[in-house]
Amino acid sequence: MSKEKKQGKGHRQCKRCGTHRALIRSYNIGLCRRCFREVAEELGFRKFS
Ligand SMILES: [Zn+2]
Repeated sequence: MSKEKKQGKGHRQCKRCGTHRALIRSYNIGLCRRCFREVAEELGFRKFS
């Protein structure tokens, strides 16, 4: 068994750009604000204003 899968709180980074800043924890997406916005637009989310 591997323990590498264990991800504690606070040690997250954007899975898109890898930054640790401005991560959105409210959603379980693992993206920073910047990437979230870009992804959201790609997905058709336009409610983010
Ligand atoms: Zn990012």
